Amino acid sequence: MISLIMLSLSTLLITGILYGYFEAQLKKQLQTEADYIGVAVLSEGIAYFDNIDIAERITLVAPDGTVLADTAADPSELENHIDRKEIQLALKNGSGTSVRYSDTFTQRTVYYAVKLENGNILRVSARQYTLVTILLKLVQPIAVIILFAVLASAILSARISKNIIDDEEREKRASMRSEFTSNVSHELKTPLTSISGFAEMLMQGDADRETVVDFSRSIYDESQRMISLVQDILRISELDEKMRFEREDVDLYELAEEITECLRPEADKMQVQLRLIGEHIHIDGVRKILYEIIYNLCDNAIKYNRPNGLAEVGIYEKENGILLTVRDTGIGIAKEEQERVFERFYRVDKSHSGVIGGTGLGLSIVKHGAIYHHASIHIESNKGEGTTITVCFTKA
Ligand code: ADP
Repeated sequence: MISLIMLSLSTLLITGILYGYFEAQLKKQLQTEADYIGVAVLSEGIAYFDNIDIAERITLVAPDGTVLADTAADPSELENHIDRKEIQLALKNGSGTSVRYSDTFTQRTVYYAVKLENGNILRVSARQYTLVTILLKLVQPIAVIILFAVLASAILSARISKNIIDDEEREKRASMRSEFTSNVSHELKTPLTSISGFAEMLMQGDADRETVVDFSRSIYDESQRMISLVQDILRISELDEKMRFEREDVDLYELAEEITECLRPEADKMQVQLRLIGEHIHIDGVRKILYEIIYNLCDNAIKYNRPNGLAEVGIYEKENGILLTVRDTGIGIAKEEQERVFERFYRVDKSHSGVIGGTGLGLSIVKHGAIYHHASIHIESNKGEGTTITVCFTKA
């Protein structure tokens, strides 16, 4: 749109400037011609008009305005020219110009008149298209040029903006990577500091057996935490690098069954009833990533539950796609936190999560895994009532 407006304005302006320039040129040309013809008329008299053959109209006018000779009409039929502006000016100043428009305003005539030595006035005139006529005549080629220019600028600007977006994307990725690195370092530092502290106390060698067991257990727990953290980091990095994974036909129900069986001891420990419902539905996907998605959702549904609570996995086929839902009757997530829980290392209750043993990467892995499968995620949760997270895979 901007290109279109600018081009149209430029065209108008340039045509206007060129028109003024050509008019000045024409006047100069008429003046030169009048000077030459004047010399010829002075030496040959009216006879000069008999065999003249030039494009411009030449008129010879007596000082009283009577037309003595004219290259375009019979002088006897022409009215007295004394009131013409250029004649008046020539009589008064020796030369003069004027411009008159045709009745239709499509053309205009530029006149130049000069007073000869014998007192007669010689007038030379030329016709010219008006600016409006020129623009109208040029509408078609100008429109084609403008269209071409607008198309070219649209393509160019699309390319430029793509580059800008690419640069921004690159910067964003770089800053996300550095933020991720700093988060990873921070997350790893905490268990390492504990391990180092416990080991230092053990190193002193004066702890009784019970303390040794206690400290060793703490070291073991912290190491386990670090192992799961590193595993999660590796998983998320794989997804981040957009690695190519082998796709295969996966029975979602069967996969969920495998995961619920694996998590049953944990559910029992937490006194949570773990249930699988739905149908055997096959999708074309990456088994390893689908496993991570279901595992992390189920793991959360158990971890963030309450005694005698329920964690239920459902696999259904609906009109709008294949749905994987993980529902729990746990602690729920406040509305304002629901977007943020998918961010890396985000935990609603940091201190509580530490006890539970979360890394803050689970839902981030779920999100990236869903994106990898072109699936969408929906969360429905009420604090204190429970959470339902649905992953919707497209059927194609
Ligand atoms: P984490 O390893 O800490 O579980 P996640 O990325 O899986 O990390 O989850 C991020 C945070 O979202 C958790 O720390 C927890 O506070 C909250 N959350 C996740 N799932 C649930 C759920 N089913 N019910 C309540 N809170 C949840």
